[in-house]
Amino acid sequence: MEDFNQILEKETTLDPQDWSQMRAIAHTMVDDMMNYLETVAERPSWQPMPQSAKDAIRQPLPEQPMELEAVYNRFKTNILPYTKGNIHPRFTAWVQGTGTPLAMMADMLASGMNPNTTIGEHAAMYVDKQVIDWCKELLDFPSEATGMLVSGGSIANITGIIVARNSFGNIRAEGLQGMTQKMIMYCSAETHACIMKAAEVTGIGGNNVRKINVGSDFRMQIAHLEALIAEDRAAGYLPFCIVGNAGTVNTGAIDPLDDILNICQREKIWFHIDGAFGALAKLTPEYQTQLKALEQADSVAFDLHKWMYMPYEVGCVLFKNPALHRAAFGGQPSYLLSHERGIAAGPDPLTNYGMELSRGFKALKVYLSLQHHGAQAFRDLIRQNIAQSFYLGELIVQDADLELVTPVSCNVVCFRFIKDGFDNEALNILNKEILMELHERGLHVPSSTILDGKYVIRCANVNHRLRKTDYDALVEDVVKIGKELSTFS
Ligand SMILES: *Cc1c(COP(=O)(O)O)cnc(C)c1O
Repeated sequence: MEDFNQILEKETTLDPQDWSQMRAIAHTMVDDMMNYLETVAERPSWQPMPQSAKDAIRQPLPEQPMELEAVYNRFKTNILPYTKGNIHPRFTAWVQGTGTPLAMMADMLASGMNPNTTIGEHAAMYVDKQVIDWCKELLDFPSEATGMLVSGGSIANITGIIVARNSFGNIRAEGLQGMTQKMIMYCSAETHACIMKAAEVTGIGGNNVRKINVGSDFRMQIAHLEALIAEDRAAGYLPFCIVGNAGTVNTGAIDPLDDILNICQREKIWFHIDGAFGALAKLTPEYQTQLKALEQADSVAFDLHKWMYMPYEVGCVLFKNPALHRAAFGGQPSYLLSHERGIAAGPDPLTNYGMELSRGFKALKVYLSLQHHGAQAFRDLIRQNIAQSFYLGELIVQDADLELVTPVSCNVVCFRFIKDGFDNEALNILNKEILMELHERGLHVPSSTILDGKYVIRCANVNHRLRKTDYDALVEDVVKIGKELSTFS
């Protein structure tokens, strides 16, 4: 083995030895990805991954170098074709954003600069802050509010719950063991699973989350909420946080946020909104009233990688009260001291506002995209997605072979194929088959959920590439496959 002196004789680096070769392949990569995005609609929306590709991905730890061209070719053969498909115009599964060519390039620029966007006097810190300020402005959130860009809605929600929890006691020092009262959280039964996880990991405990009943419109029933709060108070517990949904994951339902806000103000309870995608509906005139209360919430979580069409990952959480936000995470370890001058001067370190220390420059893609496209383009696209969803709802209502399982309220559409003589269980089996066929034939990629025991095909539209003709085709294909599968000869 070489000793240290020998190592120092021939220092190496991961930079290319031949920059011109690296540059040539890099240009090819950019061209390939541009072609890939330009022609995305011509490919199937999803295709099964052959075992050969899975086998090729799985390989022993590569000890020896491989030519860059070979590495890239393996990517093109084994990885690129078997993408998830959420960039495709016919993808409406779960709630998954499409990304954009510009934001893709912005991610490359950010990765090239590679600033750790947490501390110091450098441009990324100011871009990050500007993006937060723009987010507040887009949602009409108070301008003095603070916020954080995080990896996504789950972490944004957990961050919200942490600050909510800490604002009720000396929890950073004492933990929940210092609380004399049991802390109780409230959310509707339709709430995303990440809220439950947030309760679990913040020590609140799943059993202390009250799941409020929803009505036939899948919105929280306020009378039930009030009754449970009263019950908990009577038992000597501390109701500390109500989570309102601005767009539930199942159906896009928006809880009665005004009523929740009133209760929170009256009862001195923290009002957190999970607006992962639905908060962005506030950018349209139609949802101004329903989402007005968002402006007064204590915290709001939402995703830019969903309905702002950014590539993964970027989510955001905003806090009305900057002092409470900072109090939950602030501190100054010796290795992060702020200086008067030099690189250690600069804005308040962002680690004072969240769990993360090292952070990437995810703000850049948002910054460049809002600059280039303009905020109005996003308002228009969000409105377009909602219009397309109501259009799909209409197509379904008009088709005797289909059932719209819940009225469209925003950008989520839940429906199923129906057939005389099929009971609910048979329809559940049939619709699941239809969905898997849609995927395997590469036609469309919606997802599914279960509403009141009914298995439904579910389209959540945060897709700027989707056209109403894609929904025409979806309806046609569901009916065609449904008939194929339900006709026994
Ligand atoms: C997607 C989603 C989340 C979770 O957000 P991630 O970005 O996937 O972590 C939370 N709540 C709702 C309503 C969502 O749609």
